[in-house]
Amino acid sequence: MSFLAPTAEDPSSGALPARLDSREHLLNNSTADRYRDSVSEGVSRVASRIATCERPLTGISAPRLAPEISGIDLEQPLGDHLAALDELENVYLRDAVYFHHPRYLGHLNCPVVIPALVGEAVLSSVNSSLDTWDQSIGGTLIERRLIDWTTQRIGLGSAADGIFTSGGTQSNLQAMLLARDEACRLVQKNSETPRRKAEILPQLRILTSECSHFSIAKSAALLGLGYDAVIAVPCGEDKRMQADALARELDACAREGLVVMAVVATAGTTDFGSIDPLPEIAELCRRHETWFHVDAAYGCGLLVSPRRRHLLNGIELADSVTVDYHKSFFQPVSSSAVLVRDRNTLRHATYHADYLNPARVDEERIPNQVDKSIQTTRRFDALKLWMTLRVMGADGVGELFDEVVDRAADGWSLLTADPRFEVVVRPQLSTLVFRYLPPDNSDPALCDAVNLHAREALFASGEAVVAGTVVDGRHYLKFTLLNPQTTLRDIATVLDLIAGHARQYLSERAEPHTDRRAG
Ligand SMILES: *Cc1c(COP(=O)(O)O)cnc(C)c1O
Repeated sequence: MSFLAPTAEDPSSGALPARLDSREHLLNNSTADRYRDSVSEGVSRVASRIATCERPLTGISAPRLAPEISGIDLEQPLGDHLAALDELENVYLRDAVYFHHPRYLGHLNCPVVIPALVGEAVLSSVNSSLDTWDQSIGGTLIERRLIDWTTQRIGLGSAADGIFTSGGTQSNLQAMLLARDEACRLVQKNSETPRRKAEILPQLRILTSECSHFSIAKSAALLGLGYDAVIAVPCGEDKRMQADALARELDACAREGLVVMAVVATAGTTDFGSIDPLPEIAELCRRHETWFHVDAAYGCGLLVSPRRRHLLNGIELADSVTVDYHKSFFQPVSSSAVLVRDRNTLRHATYHADYLNPARVDEERIPNQVDKSIQTTRRFDALKLWMTLRVMGADGVGELFDEVVDRAADGWSLLTADPRFEVVVRPQLSTLVFRYLPPDNSDPALCDAVNLHAREALFASGEAVVAGTVVDGRHYLKFTLLNPQTTLRDIATVLDLIAGHARQYLSERAEPHTDRRAG
């Protein structure tokens, strides 16, 4: 025990374990061994869970778990990591949702690759911050290399650039910020009388499909345009934006004197995995001199797909692109990037602070990534992708993504042949939106209730996780397949479980006097 700060308890009394001095918890030259042992112990607890878990979750409810957590006295530290890890088993590890499990078919969460986890351990311990060169050195250069690698995969050209972000939501927000400020700049340049930016904002519109991600609408609100600035372009039955409807909206905006600051295409909609017709949309944007953003948060895995890269044809014509490596590159949260065709547009995110990145360092050509980011302190998330590419290679990642897309196609065949279910679209990527059909399907409200119940009952059982969504006002279920370990047999098993819960619900409704608690 350190003589610098003796603790209250006398360790010789034997009543309490000797407690480390606070300084001994700092990672430094004298604690490196304890760092290694402590982190290894944490890793080893997770490894045991993963090795033995038979279900994706226990299905515990919030009212049952909450008291365990509120019952912990945060003023009474346990003193060592073994005790804290023991406690964590009960408040987190035992009941967490495990995305690696083959029957986790819920949201866009992927199983993660081990090389990325090695990167994660390294980056959080060295703790580089990627805002300025003087806080990261090699981290800055590695991130820049991966941005270049990604823009080359997309085909954005030699003036391209970008930045890692916390997720697709932030990437979309930044892209919309750049598009907004470019639109304002052009309006100001082309107008005969000087115009203030605040006067232009109410005229701006964003066109995006009705199936696009809600972060586009949220970005419009955050950027001072309001939710109403987003115009939803209709999709066809395949859930892809209709290019002729987009053309009509662009003409209508022009007639009304509105400025379309961006058209947002989605390459992999969150619900259906549908990819908007990128070449047609790009051509319309070119004709109307409008910023073309492609939200490939989900579909970006196709950039490394050995068999399906062509599905992204047209993405190379974008002004900006969102990619989420933490969705289809099998990376841990967070790992995302926004890429731009013209690196000059990133200046709309630049602010020179005297203490951090004064303008004079630009002249010295010191690479400060904060000039391109809407964050300041920023994790070295790029290291996870770096380790992944250095260990597995891009093809290795792309093969995994191809496999889950194959599985979704097989799942679609299974569903279309099964009279118990109805499936919405044939998938381009790896989601399946479907619903259970009651044998007498005359009451839409009952059909909704059955599907909502089946999803909840399945979750509570811990046997599997599926997502839900609404299509044309009705409740549907959704499989998101991102795990190559999920077999067609797993899909069939989950469908049987859903049908079982649905039938039970229907039979209990048919006999309203039965005590459900007894069933
Ligand atoms: C998931 C998703 C987003 C949001 O990304 P986050 O990483 O969750 O912030 C944006 N767009 C699409 C199409 C998505 O699927």
